[in-house]
Amino acid sequence: MRNSDDEKVLRLVKPSAAGKKRTRGAAGDQKPVAGAGEYSRQVEQYARRIRETSDVNEIINILDTVLGDTRNLRYSNEIYSAQEQVRQAERQIESLKLELEQMRELIHYDPMTGAFNRRGLDAIYLREAARADRNENTLCAAVLDLDNFKQINDTYGHQFGDDVLIHLVKVAKRSLRSSDVIARYGGEEFVILLPDTTLESAVWVLQRLQNNFSRKALPDIEGNPVPVTFSGGVAARQFHENQKSLLKRADDVLYQAKKSGKSRVMIAPVSEYI
Ligand code: GH3
Ligand code: MG
Ligand code: MG
Repeated sequence: MRNSDDEKVLRLVKPSAAGKKRTRGAAGDQKPVAGAGEYSRQVEQYARRIRETSDVNEIINILDTVLGDTRNLRYSNEIYSAQEQVRQAERQIESLKLELEQMRELIHYDPMTGAFNRRGLDAIYLREAARADRNENTLCAAVLDLDNFKQINDTYGHQFGDDVLIHLVKVAKRSLRSSDVIARYGGEEFVILLPDTTLESAVWVLQRLQNNFSRKALPDIEGNPVPVTFSGGVAARQFHENQKSLLKRADDVLYQAKKSGKSRVMIAPVSEYI
């Protein structure tokens, strides 16, 4: 992907567009613009920066800059005859940018369930944690793990297991507030972030989710509902606590919930070491 992107960007540099010095634009009121030679060097630099980064946002920003530079070339007398090539280059960049924007959306989601994936969660955590610190608000995290899921797969088939995961996310999206976020953290493990929510409310939200999930249990091939439960650990973020520490605290009590019989939610104690 990266290589072909670079090729697309590098192909914008046409040998015929090589120039030597800055020129004033054809339209009198235009700013002085880079000559094609300088443009070519800039594009090389942008291509190098694109190769060196794995941050899609940065790539999109770079493409925006290339697009701006390419538009300015329109006013360069040096390449007046190459205007059609420039327009074509603009179209290529626009479509590459669109592709990357779509990719940026996709890389934040789990394709099967439509929940955020880990990368999406990372981005949202940073945003919500900063907001919580700024406004001195509570931010809770819950880690959920489906109970006996291996057995569900073994009994009803892997496809049924997949359908349960998809269904859980659907029910969660309906049960949670629009500011809450559900992310698929691993196979049958999910994280829910609950901004502006106290620990007590977070537990209540999870219990409500469990009730809704049980009430709408998916049927087996004979039409009988298959009850699936989850266990959960909930932790309230402490001031300046990072994601790793918060999820570890929630995960530790999830483990306790599993050990003490499953299908229950437990609350993480406050930690002195964050
Ligand atoms: P526990 O109650 O202790 O969590 O038991 P468990 O059976 O849920 O846990 P275990 O870790 O033994 O098994 C997890 C299972 O989840 C095994 C794996 O095949 C299944 N699983 C993980 N990801 C997927 C998935 O995407 N689809 C399906 N259908 N199953 C999955
Ligand atoms: Mg698990
Ligand atoms: Mg499990």
